[in-house]
Amino acid sequence: MIVTESHLDRFGGSHAIIVGAGTTGLTAAAALARHFERVTVLERDALPEQPEARRGVPQSRHVHVLLRGGENVMNHYFPGLTPDLVARGSVGVDMAADTRWHHSGGWKQRFESGVTMLCQTKGFLEWNLRKRVLQLPNVRIRDGATVQGYVSGDGIVAGVKLRDGSVLPAQLIVDASGRHSHMPDQLRALGYGDVPLTTLDVDVGYATRPYRVPPDHAGWRALLIHPRLPASRLGVLLPVEGDRWLVTLVGWRGDHPPDDEQGFLDFARSLPVPDMHQAIRGAEPLEQIRLYRFPANLRRHYDRMRQMPDGLVVIGDAACSINPIYAQGMSQGAIGASILDACLSHQRRKAGTKEIRGLTRQFHKKYAKFLDSCWMLSTTEDYGTETSSSRRFPGAPILNWYMGRIQELTWKDRDVAQRFIEVMHMLRPPVSLFAPSIAARALLLR
Ligand SMILES: Cc1cc2nc3c(=O)[nH]c(=O)nc-3n(C[C@H](O)[C@H](O)[C@H](O)COP(=O)(O)OP(=O)(O)OC[C@H]3O[C@@H](n4cnc5c(N)ncnc54)[C@H](O)[C@@H]3O)c2cc1C
Repeated sequence: MIVTESHLDRFGGSHAIIVGAGTTGLTAAAALARHFERVTVLERDALPEQPEARRGVPQSRHVHVLLRGGENVMNHYFPGLTPDLVARGSVGVDMAADTRWHHSGGWKQRFESGVTMLCQTKGFLEWNLRKRVLQLPNVRIRDGATVQGYVSGDGIVAGVKLRDGSVLPAQLIVDASGRHSHMPDQLRALGYGDVPLTTLDVDVGYATRPYRVPPDHAGWRALLIHPRLPASRLGVLLPVEGDRWLVTLVGWRGDHPPDDEQGFLDFARSLPVPDMHQAIRGAEPLEQIRLYRFPANLRRHYDRMRQMPDGLVVIGDAACSINPIYAQGMSQGAIGASILDACLSHQRRKAGTKEIRGLTRQFHKKYAKFLDSCWMLSTTEDYGTETSSSRRFPGAPILNWYMGRIQELTWKDRDVAQRFIEVMHMLRPPVSLFAPSIAARALLLR
């Protein structure tokens, strides 16, 4: 989904601030550069000169798939990004032709789907996006700059307070500071009350190790092994820049993979098919095993606030952080940036280039609709897990039954497999899995 219209005049004498230089903040910077005279991205970390992981995004050592929905948006703001990335080492993997994918008890069909996932480390992707953002003449990235608070009055946020005591004024502030965003505390302190919150416990543990691709490897480029509920273990092997495999093992509901070599291999061997273990047992590991724990899906409903100050929007993981096994996070943030772009175009047309009031509510309403579909897509299985302590929504068992049938169909029916891939990559809405032609096959499946 790309929604943009940026040929109107920019907001006069204007400055926008983005808090956080993750993938969401960087994509938002390019979107905002079309609307504001100056854009400043403030980042707490010292940003590395090289493509590497950094403190502020500890998850970046783990597998990060960029779905096509997010890749399309990034290419819109950074034309030619995909060929650039591929020339520097990213690997395009067709979801069906190049991927050996065991899902919910069966192997999926192998065929040319035309839907590629772009595989690289997150540090590499961010480094390339930073280079692109720095080419924009009206955007500046300030690293080592921690935002500690906001300046507000008369129902509008008009600037940020930095840790060094300085204040930076702006007409629009975008909070893209990730899952641990302090915005709920800030809004409470400013008298706006609590931000409504939905959480769903999953207690997912990640263990990741890079390997050198064995010279004699053939047959597939990526290997995905996803369990049938209530089994709780999965494995992902993706090719990344530098002729490496990034291997991530994942366990749900406390069944976490360990960080010792033998335990890691044993966990791989315990997956429903032996392929992951066979692939890595003789391969050369390049680094130690790293762990990460993700306790719960969380969604902050800024659209449901009774009052929200103008001049402020919250985007990406700061608004909605979803179980990473569904690989939606970076795309969700990038698409959020494109929704903000469209809302700014609308605002300039309707209210003129001097008026920012009204944008906050309009954006959060539109963004919430999109987040509803992300949440539904990724939490359907999570709600189905037996030990999830969060309250199930009433339709969850039926939805789980239906999705189980869809997954079975993807083993043998190319049309359904294609549709499933397109929905997963955010190229179609989840509801398209309920189209009559698909539903009939799911209901008649024996
Ligand atoms: C283990 C794991 C695997 C994942 N795999 C995938 C995947 O395969 N595909 C996918 O799309 N997503 C994946 N995700 C999700 C993905 O990591 C996030 O959705 C994505 O990084 C969110 O981007 P963001 O820019 O919104 O936030 P972040 O990447 O968290 O960036 C926030 C930035 O804000 C900075 N910051 C924070 N506070 C301040 C402050 N006060 N002042 C200034 N700067 C500040 C931080 O340093 C950081 O740079 C995974 C997540 C995990 C945990």
